[in-house]
Amino acid sequence: MSEPRRDIRVLPPTAAERIAAGEVVERPASVVKELIENSLDAGARRITVEIEGAGQRTIRVSDDGEGIPARDLPLAFQRFATSKIRVAEDLHRIDTYGFRGEALPSIAAVARIEMVTRLRGGDAMRLALVGGAQPTLGPASGPPGSTVTVADLFFNTPARRKFLKSPAREAAVIAETVEALALAAPDVAFRLSHDGREILWYPPEQFGDRARRVLGSSVAGHLLDLEAVMSVGTLEAVLGTPQVAQPRRTLQWFLVNRRPVRSPLLTRALAQAYHTLIPHDRHPAAVLAVQLPPQSVDANIHPRKTEVRFADERTLFEDVVREVRRALHRVPLVHVVPGAGSPALSAPRVDVRTGEIESLEGTRWPLPDRAAAAGAHEGDAGQTIRWPSIRVIGQLARTYIVGESGGDLILIDQHAAHERVLFERLLASRTRDGVRAQGLVTPPVLSLTPAEGTLLDEVGPAIHAIGFEVEPFGPGTVRLTAVPAIAVGRAPEALFRACLRDLGGDGDLHHAGRSLEERLAIATACHTAVRAGDPLNQTMMADLLDALEHAEDPFSCFHGRPTMIRVRGRDLERWFYRRD
Ligand code: ADP
Ligand code: MG
Repeated sequence: MSEPRRDIRVLPPTAAERIAAGEVVERPASVVKELIENSLDAGARRITVEIEGAGQRTIRVSDDGEGIPARDLPLAFQRFATSKIRVAEDLHRIDTYGFRGEALPSIAAVARIEMVTRLRGGDAMRLALVGGAQPTLGPASGPPGSTVTVADLFFNTPARRKFLKSPAREAAVIAETVEALALAAPDVAFRLSHDGREILWYPPEQFGDRARRVLGSSVAGHLLDLEAVMSVGTLEAVLGTPQVAQPRRTLQWFLVNRRPVRSPLLTRALAQAYHTLIPHDRHPAAVLAVQLPPQSVDANIHPRKTEVRFADERTLFEDVVREVRRALHRVPLVHVVPGAGSPALSAPRVDVRTGEIESLEGTRWPLPDRAAAAGAHEGDAGQTIRWPSIRVIGQLARTYIVGESGGDLILIDQHAAHERVLFERLLASRTRDGVRAQGLVTPPVLSLTPAEGTLLDEVGPAIHAIGFEVEPFGPGTVRLTAVPAIAVGRAPEALFRACLRDLGGDGDLHHAGRSLEERLAIATACHTAVRAGDPLNQTMMADLLDALEHAEDPFSCFHGRPTMIRVRGRDLERWFYRRD
């Protein structure tokens, strides 16, 4: 982000007016962010952040960047004085972190600030201000680059101090801020210390290595890399496997054109890509970096620039979902984790990408050969890991199918498995061979509540696309003339009403980010599938397993529950002390 240094100039009012106004300095971490960004814009290779008292007492950011010419130093602390853009039009092609010329004056106004800066081959200069006033300018000494020290933040605005969280919390937010920018600039070395103690230290490295460092040891060994060219730009990511999905979104980082951002759109895309692979109350661990043409991203919508606007949201969303999904399908997601803690006996952990159950030692067995051959090394066929066919042994508790596969014990949840199969069939028939509807010999007439009537008006086309056919039949009544072919045998009226009811309910998390048709397919599959308690004969079970084997995502239902659990023959041997 650096090119030959330009003079600092005050922006013309036309540009200044168009800058997103608002509070730049909200808390100590805001200062850290602005100062690091300035260092990055100055082409720094090494950035050191030292804080004391969680940043309230002192924040010092030193860099080895290009420095500021002596004559420009006072200007840097004037509002709307910047070396990065010149005219309003430049706002459409921002390639620097800063562009508003607001940070230094805003920080200076609420603290004691000192900047020592030196151009390569020049002399060091020092400027100090107190609450933005009483400037002292003079010669100094120091290495090439800049060091900004901010002391007693908010000393003159006690009200703002009150809004700060506990020192521990403010320090944590500072660390997150450094981590985020470190992800944005992996080739730059970063160091963060708090009260003299080193908190973070990153050497210059590749994106993937930096991402691994920031995601941390709790997910190490469960990460995969993604690099893709999308229709709208490029995507680079390090993704946690479904196995290490988190109870909170703490391990999610998004970067857009090297700017760390909060992005509801990318958050949703990530959730959608892992959807059905992880339970709905878990969140993937991931660092996602997208690179888009500058004119298709607006970074000037938020005072702290932590949010951006995309020109083509829909395409970006779809591209990211597709690429992340593809990456998740490409790699075998079972890893040997020596020394991982033992899972509780009562609650084995099941990998919903593979059905693998964690053995009692907490060690996962590697994939069987055939599975590895099918899933592991083949390019981007988007193929799922396959097992040898399953031989049905019988039904257990009218809920599970018990089977055997290559000497392993397989337990299948009959409802979850059937749901998965039907869901995929519904969507496939819609896209491949057109709708498969089955006409009803005696079409039932249904009277609808006004709410049901309104809903039906809204979702009519989707209902039709999935195979239901409904015709008006007098005020407040309709006639159901066909149902999806897969649902033959289910009571048509009850099925239709249940689907309509599911669509009406909006609180369902499994539906987030899904199209209406998909939601309808989920509802139809759910209400059509065999239930726990349904007796199944040998043929029905064999058919179901055969269908499941050919499913695209055979190991999980769309609620993120596993469809099957596999107990390794080798584990059985251990449990019976047949071998160590
Ligand atoms: P902006 O970054 O939006 O331009 P700032 O108030 O953050 O505004 O900084 C004002 C100017 O001071 C910058 O445009 C840049 O020229 C200069 N500057 C600030 N920090 C540094 C630094 N660490 N190294 C070199 N120049 C800097
Ligand atoms: Mg700046």
